[in-house]
Amino acid sequence: MLSFRSIPVAAVAALLLVSGEVRAGSPDAGPELPPGFSASEDDGPPDASAVLDAEGQTAAGPATKAPAAKAGAPEGKDKAPQAKPGGPEAKGAEQAGAPDSPGAPGTVQLEGQMEVVPPVPQGPPPWGSLAILGKEVAPGEVRELSLRISESFSGSGVEIPVVAIRGEKRGPTLCLTAGIHGDELNGVEIVREMVDQTRARGLAGTIIAVPIANLHGFQGSSRYLPDRRDLNRFFPGKARGNTASRIAFEIFQNVIRHCDKLIDLHTGSFHRSNLPQIRADLKDPGNLALAKAFGATVIVHNSGGKGTLRRAAQDAGIPAIIYEAGEPMRFQAQEIKRGVFGVRNVLVNLGMIKGSRVNLGEQRIFYETRWVRAERGGILVNEVRLGDEVREGDILGTITDPIRKGKSVVVSPYRGRVIGMVLAPVMIPGYAAFHIGIPGNKPVDTDDTIDQDRPE
Ligand SMILES: [Zn+2]
Repeated sequence: MLSFRSIPVAAVAALLLVSGEVRAGSPDAGPELPPGFSASEDDGPPDASAVLDAEGQTAAGPATKAPAAKAGAPEGKDKAPQAKPGGPEAKGAEQAGAPDSPGAPGTVQLEGQMEVVPPVPQGPPPWGSLAILGKEVAPGEVRELSLRISESFSGSGVEIPVVAIRGEKRGPTLCLTAGIHGDELNGVEIVREMVDQTRARGLAGTIIAVPIANLHGFQGSSRYLPDRRDLNRFFPGKARGNTASRIAFEIFQNVIRHCDKLIDLHTGSFHRSNLPQIRADLKDPGNLALAKAFGATVIVHNSGGKGTLRRAAQDAGIPAIIYEAGEPMRFQAQEIKRGVFGVRNVLVNLGMIKGSRVNLGEQRIFYETRWVRAERGGILVNEVRLGDEVREGDILGTITDPIRKGKSVVVSPYRGRVIGMVLAPVMIPGYAAFHIGIPGNKPVDTDDTIDQDRPE
């Protein structure tokens, strides 16, 4: 049996050793700011403590699933008359002859007199255990669980780790997933750090973390599953489908269905690197709010291809975003740190933890993106870097023919910002070389069935 402790952590530790890029240790206390970053209290919502009353019930802000009224009146019913019988408000209502008042909740019409009946408390059930993967996770408890997703070639079970942190107080359920592409490691470390930092005692709500969704790929340093399928093209999956579809089904039904919101963590793919960015279908207000809550990077509109986890979650009514940062096969300290701060910002925004948001700079939105492709074969030398602003006609790179010494330039047809670029220098016509974020006023969908270079 594979367990969270024996396989992934050991593998992660080994990668930590060889990488040399990951900062040592994880702070238990507040976040350590990277150079140039500053804590900001004025661009985000108020400190979570300001929106939690003494009982930890959310009184305002995004996380308003908890009952607003201590009397337990469901949302929308707390406008029931609060006046005592014969009080001035009741008289006012009577005099106004409010047409809806006879049938209004909490009122009884008796021979011309209005008697106000106190509303019956109808609060949600008490905050209790989370039932997941056949276990109960009690409030204040952290449990390392496992989900059997498939079997190995030897017939033994393949289980992925799932960590559930059940807060002591009521709140939303935020899910963190990483490693859907087994060679994308930054997200694995972001999830590990978040699990390491978060205490159930101070948490309002629940965090469900899946640090390595594609364990097959992770063990083989591969983006894919053993059948060469991309797991992130088969959600929500099928119980009797192909291998990828079955694994997607197990994850979606047993974990994702529990989520109120989802952050899926990725990197660029195949010798490409991404400027840290949130990708989401910004036509959905829930996704846009979640993207803004992350607050740590640029936001890119993308509707999400069919079969991606975030698209499937979104279709199931779960706001979902992905954090794309850096490149595969590496642990990159700055990209990881930025991701940890972003997830933490979301927790603060949702009222799940107390603290201040961390401002990591401008949160610019790009409503459209386009790839610029090579027109000639040869060796590409980049003339721009990730994050550079470019204008139409700017030279992005130069392609040199190593045999005949021919030279051609790659010119940007767009004004925007470089949000992704190729790292391997070898080009043939049609290779996607530079990904440009294009500003605008409203989301523009690109055809994902044509764009095979989407990284997620
Ligand atoms: Zn990915």
